[in-house]
Amino acid sequence: MIIVFKPNATEQDIDHVTDRLRELGLKTQISRGEERTIIGVIGDERILENQPLSVFPGVESVTPILAPWKLVSREFQKDNTVIDVDGVLVGGRRLTVMAGPCAVEKLEITLGIAQEVKAAGGSILRGGAYKPRTSPYSFQGLGREGLDYLLEAKRQTGLPIVSEILDPRDTDLFLEKADIIQIGARNMQNFELLKEVGAYDKPVLLKRGLSATIKEFLLSAEYILSRGNRNIILCERGIRTFETQYRNTLDLSAVPVLKELSHLPVIVDPSHATGKWNLVSPMAKAAIAAGADGLLIEVHSDPECALCDGEESLKPRRFKDLMAELQKIAQAVGREL
Ligand code: PEP
Ligand code: MN
Repeated sequence: MIIVFKPNATEQDIDHVTDRLRELGLKTQISRGEERTIIGVIGDERILENQPLSVFPGVESVTPILAPWKLVSREFQKDNTVIDVDGVLVGGRRLTVMAGPCAVEKLEITLGIAQEVKAAGGSILRGGAYKPRTSPYSFQGLGREGLDYLLEAKRQTGLPIVSEILDPRDTDLFLEKADIIQIGARNMQNFELLKEVGAYDKPVLLKRGLSATIKEFLLSAEYILSRGNRNIILCERGIRTFETQYRNTLDLSAVPVLKELSHLPVIVDPSHATGKWNLVSPMAKAAIAAGADGLLIEVHSDPECALCDGEESLKPRRFKDLMAELQKIAQAVGREL
């Protein structure tokens, strides 16, 4: 951390700051220029999190050097985290494609889609049983019954399942039935929910908030990791911008940036990022080319009748074609599918 003093700061002001830093166990290096005095703080400056040094008399600016997160960082762990999801590895050389309906609907529909996902080479089945809908009048999901349909699909296909939790009171239910607990964009900063899923080692799929910065996203992951759960998958799902032509703007730069800053696996959701089925395949390919460890894709056998997000759902045949096309991209970037 670098602390810059105002030109009129007194020796007393400077001593006041250095004394406080020493009390906290930090060393200081003072540099007195002609106009300004600067202090370089030596030691783990994160302990200054609760010290508003910028309000100390004479201080002009305080610039942190270290990132505000620790456990999620590459410095903390050099090697990529690889997560074992009931036998499916996420974050290794092999790409992970999670696919399935936006919402779990009837049992037969769920089972049919699961078979198609499996046949096309998908490795994890997705499906929302509890849906965070903008309107209270929209389909809210089947709840517990929906999780049971997913479990039946898992029994028939062997695909592990990922589903979104909305309420910390449902944790036991998700620990029992889901292989990955999804925290959706709307809950990325629901800190109590983050702490709750952080208390177990069940894999968590953390989606980037609607308007979250990379810093906020990584700090949310840090919440989970700091509670002990190391099994976190980050998911870029588009952010809100001024553009209205598509649902969100897929921030693909986030992929290499997150991979550089963190050891956690990063996947991309081109379905919610675009909101349009015809944009899903091009963006899925771009995501893999950009270094994503996998994809989250909405697939529905009858998008016209889907109870949620039919407009962005791929029909199984298109999903199959996409999986074939992705093979070439995967190979080009040294990955397997
Ligand atoms: C979802 O994946 O079902 C979902 C609701 O996505 P998001 O939280 O990214 O909007
Ligand atoms: Mn959806």
